[in-house]
Amino acid sequence: MINDGFSNRRRQLLRLKVLREGRQPQDPARPKAEGVFAPCPDCGRAVSRRTWAERQNVCPHCGFHRPMSAYQRMEQILDPGSFKELDAGLCGGDPLQFDGYPEKLRRLRQITGLQEAVVCAKGRIGGAAVVIGVMDSRFLMGSMGVAVGEKIARAADTARREKLPLILFCASGGARMQEGILSLMQMAKTAEAVSRFQDAGGLYIACLTHPTTGGVTASFASLADVTLAEPGALIGFAGPRVIEQTIGQTLPQGFQRSEYLLEHGFLDAVVPRAELRGVLIRLLQLHGKGGRRRGTAQRV
Ligand SMILES: [Zn+2]
Repeated sequence: MINDGFSNRRRQLLRLKVLREGRQPQDPARPKAEGVFAPCPDCGRAVSRRTWAERQNVCPHCGFHRPMSAYQRMEQILDPGSFKELDAGLCGGDPLQFDGYPEKLRRLRQITGLQEAVVCAKGRIGGAAVVIGVMDSRFLMGSMGVAVGEKIARAADTARREKLPLILFCASGGARMQEGILSLMQMAKTAEAVSRFQDAGGLYIACLTHPTTGGVTASFASLADVTLAEPGALIGFAGPRVIEQTIGQTLPQGFQRSEYLLEHGFLDAVVPRAELRGVLIRLLQLHGKGGRRRGTAQRV
């Protein structure tokens, strides 16, 4: 692991600013300063900047859930003042000396204020202590390299040691190609860490957001005790275009979207963003504050 040029003090200030303001300074989900309106990426209708902020990035016309930054999500889900980041300084290197990769990482760290594509933390939801990880698709499509895998695995280990529920918000394009086979190994590492946590009796809740694909879907995102998803999220391994080209058939309407997957038994519930925190509080209460005991998991 390497550390980039950001001083700890600068990182800390940035994080405090984010948690105070509830958004990233350079958040692409936030409309550009010069425009009062920003079109919805789904229906194309104009939505004011204030409306996007008030409605947690959900389109008032079509209900499209725009991606949120990791810190925005923490702000939405956790009790105020309870956020305590884990492994904040842990960031990836360039194990394969992939052309242009270090520069890309450096630039993204400056633009997003993130060290990596996932932010992990300890916090409270409705008073219940939890370990939470939130992936951020602005950082190389939320792809899982060594550092992302390590942070997820460490979050699961912390939750196991401290007997806390584990909540992961997934948003990923899959494995990180710049880290080759090492990124694929993260699938086994995260799955193993989650399995150790579950064997110890821990409660793991995953929330799949748009988009959750590739190696993340094929590892820890699909292993939760309770799997939730936001409406309309694309969830799958390969993308629909690749599947269509491979099988030479047109896919059914809504294929790989949350609602379709719920209908086919891959999800436990599709939960609109505005209701997510309430649903998590209820789930934590149902399972007891400290997580479930083995064999007593309840489904929703
Ligand atoms: Zn819309």
